Amino acid sequence: MLDDIQKKYIKKESNFGAENYKPLPVVLSKAKGVWAWDINDNKYLDMMSGYSAVSHGHAHPELLKVFHDQSSKLSLTSRAFYTDQLGPYLETLTSISGFEMALPMNSGAEAVETAIKSARRWAYRVKKVKPDKAEIIVAEGNFHGRTTTIISFSDEGNPKDDFGPLTPGFVTVKFGCAESIKEAINENTAAVLIEPIQGEAGIVVPPNDYLSKVREICNESNVLMILDEIQSGLGRTGKLFAFQHSCGSCDCKENLCNWRPDGLILGKALGGGFIPVSCFLSKKEVLELMNPGSHGSTFGGNPLASAIGKRSLELLFEEKLIENSRIMGDYFKQSLKNMNSKIIKEVRGKGLWLGVEIDKNYISGKDLSLMCLEHGILCKETHETTIRYAPPLTITEEELNWGIDKIRTVLKKIEKVAA
Ligand SMILES: *Cc1c(COP(=O)(O)O)cnc(C)c1O
Repeated sequence: MLDDIQKKYIKKESNFGAENYKPLPVVLSKAKGVWAWDINDNKYLDMMSGYSAVSHGHAHPELLKVFHDQSSKLSLTSRAFYTDQLGPYLETLTSISGFEMALPMNSGAEAVETAIKSARRWAYRVKKVKPDKAEIIVAEGNFHGRTTTIISFSDEGNPKDDFGPLTPGFVTVKFGCAESIKEAINENTAAVLIEPIQGEAGIVVPPNDYLSKVREICNESNVLMILDEIQSGLGRTGKLFAFQHSCGSCDCKENLCNWRPDGLILGKALGGGFIPVSCFLSKKEVLELMNPGSHGSTFGGNPLASAIGKRSLELLFEEKLIENSRIMGDYFKQSLKNMNSKIIKEVRGKGLWLGVEIDKNYISGKDLSLMCLEHGILCKETHETTIRYAPPLTITEEELNWGIDKIRTVLKKIEKVAA
């Protein structure tokens, strides 16, 4: 399927780059909206959306304009100076999310690190935990990034991976079981850090009342509840934040949640598909503890990122992307179920964030992604048997139908071979 020119590009990546990824065999060169093209001008429907970083679609015209205008005016200053972009961005970010303060970073992992440092500082300075004793409770199967500290509490922090010594201070409990959090809490517990829906674990949706129970437990024990919504947030699940599926009548813009976490981590789609933009949002009591010199980033909160971040947030509402995620997501989920394919064991997820569990007796996740690719769908398996479908939130019914047709064709072909 690959021609010599494609092979040449692929070879360059593996010859000169560390092979810490195993990409699908396609060499992309342009994209617009929900569509991407390879160097031979073959067209694909992007159902990966850069792991949800491209929720606004590729090269969104409004964001492209902000990108052009802001980068030609002022793109980077460092935080040694004030700019006319950061303040308005932080104001929008906090008012839309309902949190008092934000600390801007770039990558998701950096924002997770920010949350960890903030929670620890709060534990020592407010909760009065003894020096160096603070613990953070995390869930099995989590994904929060790849730094040395973060892998210390994820499935990748395995001694056989040879990345040790690992960072202490983390306690792992079962995901979806609030009771296990209650049991793990002690006087040194600073925070609970979880994903409302585990993305990389295969779009694992916990029981409906899980998060509200965690909220109650954290309240009772004076423990911070911190949610990593880097992938699940900003409309991906059909609500602004995934936690809003379980906090009662909820439109965070109006601040009507019955409860909210103490901290929220955002990234991915905040950068509008253009640049890395992330942040840690929390209450004053936590973030006011971060004083000059305690934390920072040369690029964090730069004027270009601020302008893009602000517009990305506004567009979610102006273009009704959250609503579209819910409506198109429900339709997509139902369409997959209606296929009644023997290959599909389960369709999980909310909004335009679906995990399709396939029967590995028919085909592996890897081979199914390859077949999808051949039929013009960009998607990738997480684990062996889950395919994640997460198109941009801008997708129209017509575009989605195009994709659904292709997926149906692929499944029919596999069934035919198996019969
Ligand atoms: C992607 C992701 C991260 C890490 O973000 P990077 O920008 O890759 O560092 C952290 N948490 C979750 C839930 C993610 O999906």
